[in-house]
Amino acid sequence: MQVELIDKTYNMRNKLIAGNWKLNPATSDSALELCRQLKLRLAPFSKAKIVVCPPFTALCLAVDLLKGTRISIGAQNLYWEDSGAYTGEISAPMLKSAGCEYVIIGHSERRLFFHETNENVHHKIIAAQRHNLIPIVCVGETLQQRESGVMKDVVMEQVTEALRGMSEQALQNLVIAYEPVWAIGTGKTATPAQAEEMHEFIRSLILEDFTKSVSDQMLILYGGSVKPDNARDLLQNTNIDGALVGGACLSAESFSEIVRAGEELL
Ligand code: PEP
Repeated sequence: MQVELIDKTYNMRNKLIAGNWKLNPATSDSALELCRQLKLRLAPFSKAKIVVCPPFTALCLAVDLLKGTRISIGAQNLYWEDSGAYTGEISAPMLKSAGCEYVIIGHSERRLFFHETNENVHHKIIAAQRHNLIPIVCVGETLQQRESGVMKDVVMEQVTEALRGMSEQALQNLVIAYEPVWAIGTGKTATPAQAEEMHEFIRSLILEDFTKSVSDQMLILYGGSVKPDNARDLLQNTNIDGALVGGACLSAESFSEIVRAGEELL
């Protein structure tokens, strides 16, 4: 009886596989070709949620080409003001009208190279949700923070500051991605046990401030060198609800294998 209850709770959450194209590919033609390949390769899947996040200049072509498929489009960043004198920025209403449904917020590369703070991340989440974009909020510690044993403090601060003052309803339209900085683009993946431990911790943080149902339903993705050959081992853990994939999402073949790993667990 107990086992059945646990399984039902687990099945309430889907698997979400999101691809972060970062500053790739260099031309619109290559972006178009990647979308075509994704459309073909991802057509057989019917259960996992799939999101691709191209650079801004490829958003509209991705939306057009992938219309009518189960693939949703996300952006990689946004600014918290809707409009105004903010040269070089892009806003939530602009992304929404381009056809985006998701937006990555607080990726470690934004925090590191563009000095984004937890406060900035919070403002961006509010702006995204004001325009019905689902934020994929990235958190994660550096290698030095892990080695000095403060990784949970760092992640707790990132999560609590990002979600400060948010309503239960807002939390239902938000995804968290745990991405240990030392595992991003390095080929080093967190072990499934390390990832699961942090995901369980993040879920417990949600439970401290929100209801059990919000915490149970929160999608928490793992990101950091996810590849076809390690995806299943990561995704089969109870608190790992999907993956945010960088390098491996630039090949439709490897991205679709990661989607397959998620789909087979549903
Ligand atoms: C990422 O960019 O979010 C990421 C996890 O990259 P990679 O899969 O290349 O480590």
